[in-house]
Amino acid sequence: MEVDVSVVVPVFNEEGNLEDLFKRLCPVMDSTGKSWEVIFVNDGSRDSSGEILRSFHKKRPDVVKLIDFNGNFGQHTAIIAAFERVSGKVVVTIDADLQNPPEEITKLLKRIDEGYDAVGGYRKQREDTFMRRYASKFVNFMRDKMTNIRMKDQGCMLRAYTRDIVKAVLSTNERSMFIPALAYTFASNPDEIEVEHAQRQSGTSKYNLYKLIRLNFDLITGFTLVPLQLFTIFGFLSAIGSFLLVGILLFRRFFMGVEAEGVFTLFAILFFLVSMTLIGIGLIGEYVGRIYQVVQARPKYILRETVGFENPAK
Ligand code: UDP
Ligand code: MG
Repeated sequence: MEVDVSVVVPVFNEEGNLEDLFKRLCPVMDSTGKSWEVIFVNDGSRDSSGEILRSFHKKRPDVVKLIDFNGNFGQHTAIIAAFERVSGKVVVTIDADLQNPPEEITKLLKRIDEGYDAVGGYRKQREDTFMRRYASKFVNFMRDKMTNIRMKDQGCMLRAYTRDIVKAVLSTNERSMFIPALAYTFASNPDEIEVEHAQRQSGTSKYNLYKLIRLNFDLITGFTLVPLQLFTIFGFLSAIGSFLLVGILLFRRFFMGVEAEGVFTLFAILFFLVSMTLIGIGLIGEYVGRIYQVVQARPKYILRETVGFENPAK
């Protein structure tokens, strides 16, 4: 059965937030006057999140659906699993930790009704650690310079998409995807609006430094080859530099005789170039690894169970 709006919530160890999220989400969605559903994806939580989500289904079987993964496959994969099963004409994504106030959903829906096909939120005042804010600014800057994705705040997951955009996202066969950026590339009429941002209500961020770095590499490698091209250009420049240096050294060798000075300078130059080479190999590895994952074609996620869907096979 088609509904007007599907709300998608990825959940990983969020037991302290779910009750309040549900308490706030239901009245907001009921008040829109639209038919709606919420799809929670339990991304391998090891706390009581799974049981809490099942109790929501018992409370509101008319709207609550649950996808239960058998392990932790990541926020973006969780959203994809929900995208594959949404029945809404419009699809909203929102975090489970109440950093995105559910009340803001009405604003997003209004913009979609006005004819935009991908409406993103950008956070007015971001309530995260100093480190996170600045790292994120840096990646925003890199993304802006290297890709043709123009958005104010790629990290904000409070977003609404029309079903066509969701279908386009699903039609790609990518493994490591960054959904807001991918959706943006398919949108013909994207828009951004300012949304509130709150501190995480309970628990800590589910992204450690490693996961964050992985995610941001997904963003850059997924949308541009500029890093590789920069590397090639750098390679050419340093080859020209080395050629000149060899010329100078040969000249001195022949006209000034044998000299051992400058060994440490040469070492410094060598170390610099060796580390640049290592970075370059790593960079190629980032792209090749992603190709490898697609070629292997392993399932993106493994389901334990789904609850509340009309077609139980889903
Ligand atoms: N999340 C998830 N799987 C993960 C990591 C996070 O489903 O492996 C969910 C998490 O429960 C939350 C959302 O993704 O609903 C955003 O995560 P978090 O708040 O930790 O990210 P941050 O706000 O720190 O960027
Ligand atoms: Mg958060």
